[in-house]
Amino acid sequence: DTIGDNFDRTAAAYPDVDALVEVSTGRRWTYVQLREDVDKVACGLLQAGLQVGDRLGIWAPNMAEWTLVQYATAKIGVVLVNINPSYRTHELEFVLNQAGISVLVAAREFKTSDYAGMIEQVRPNCPDLRKVVIIGSPEWDEVAAGGDAGDRVRLAETQAGLSTDDPINIQYTSGTTGFPKGATLSHHNILNNGHSLGRILGYGPDDRVCIPVPFYHCFGMVMGNLGCTTNGATMVIPAQGFDPKATLHAVAQERCTSLYGVPTMFIAELNDPEFGSYDLSSLRTGIMAGSPCPVEVMKQVVDRMGMTEVTIAYGMTETSPVSTQTRRDDSLELRVSTVGRVLPHLEVKVVDPETGATLPRNTPGELCTRGYSVMLGYWNQQEKTDEVLDRARWMHTGDIAVMDDDGYVNITGRIKDMVIRGGENVYPREIEEFLYTHPDILDAQVIGVPDVKYGEELCAWITQREGTTPLDAAAVREFATGKLAHYKIPRYVMVVDEFPMTVTGKVRKVEMRASSVETLG
Ligand code: ATP
Ligand code: MG
Repeated sequence: DTIGDNFDRTAAAYPDVDALVEVSTGRRWTYVQLREDVDKVACGLLQAGLQVGDRLGIWAPNMAEWTLVQYATAKIGVVLVNINPSYRTHELEFVLNQAGISVLVAAREFKTSDYAGMIEQVRPNCPDLRKVVIIGSPEWDEVAAGGDAGDRVRLAETQAGLSTDDPINIQYTSGTTGFPKGATLSHHNILNNGHSLGRILGYGPDDRVCIPVPFYHCFGMVMGNLGCTTNGATMVIPAQGFDPKATLHAVAQERCTSLYGVPTMFIAELNDPEFGSYDLSSLRTGIMAGSPCPVEVMKQVVDRMGMTEVTIAYGMTETSPVSTQTRRDDSLELRVSTVGRVLPHLEVKVVDPETGATLPRNTPGELCTRGYSVMLGYWNQQEKTDEVLDRARWMHTGDIAVMDDDGYVNITGRIKDMVIRGGENVYPREIEEFLYTHPDILDAQVIGVPDVKYGEELCAWITQREGTTPLDAAAVREFATGKLAHYKIPRYVMVVDEFPMTVTGKVRKVEMRASSVETLG
């Protein structure tokens, strides 16, 4: 299937099921209504002169128009380029030119960002950009009006002529370890992944999925939107940006059965002072993913949110994104402590990052993924593509993993984050998990900082629970002494209010390393 054909099939099977709910505005669509509006936008875009293979940029927070544009572009074979809502002029100009975007659909503003103003600033430097459509403006109304009868015919013809192997989406990585890269993905890549992970969660027309993760990222647009529309479930948008209260409110009001988030989002929800006042009894399942999922947080999600079938997924933008996932019938122990087993029709292996040789089970090494989910390549960056995709089309993830005898995978960190202290490999994840067990510590992140004697030393950044007295290095070291090997005990401790984050809610350790080096001299 192409994404458009698959969407039409779902709309035909479940015409009256809710497809999309925007909680903040109260707007809602059934599948048959959403299909009608998607087709109108598709026709409007054809009328605007877009052709198969052209690039359309979308620069907006989570809102219904994002989803309309996602499916409308898929129907006419236009490559959707997801633009990070936190970008400013420099980055915007870069992505407009790098992807050769000819039409940009954007929100007028978001939080303190004046998108329309920034677009006007960079426009003279973007020769490919010929049309800007601000959502809510007369230009948008024209696109959404759906062209004429001739455009309907062209829509049907265009949609019928598409191939599932065509590129349909350029998604930028989170930028956790450096500058984001644009992964080029086909219908085949992302549609199958959305379908597969939705099946693992048991999605059907009775499911209502709360999606507080950004659409700009694969977590929102593939695991969220495509996971729903391939299985007839309902997409629920709690708010434009992440807000713990809005998320809990959306779950309660819309009786959501599933909730998504990166660990930091679940932590914020669980620690919200009004957590207890929301009725979350409809929740059954959900996904935690994006960065290491602390066991303690997973347990609370099961016990306090009632997400008894919650799963952990592991993946990356370059692999559409999910490669491994826990299953609903895995034991609780495995479900909270591993990233599960490989998805159907995909392969994973663990290799020695130096030699590329496959390692025996239970040995840490670099995780590699192969199969339908692997991206076509980074957009216009052949060299970068060749660094991660080998000749046999294995994607080298840059993540360190261990696979047990039954195929359960554990992600122990990123190669770039591993700390080598005095010749010992230290995996920050292990120390972070340990620090969570301190009653006053809310969240912990461990990085390596340069050290003359040991090469690197460990530095822990912590946030503390409200009303607790600030901890210092001595207190943390004392807490760890006798429980961790001496070389795993952080030398430095910094108490902060928050960590530097990507818009996808991941901690930017690159930034933490730079600022620690500055602070520690
Ligand atoms: P960049 O590639 O730009 O540095 P990024 O790798 O964070 O950013 P994404 O594609 O959004 O960009 O994230 C993929 C990465 O997220 C994986 O390579 C892995 O390091 C991490 N990750 C995803 N899911 C999990 C998980 N369940 N447990 C641990 N880590 C995870
Ligand atoms: Mg990455």
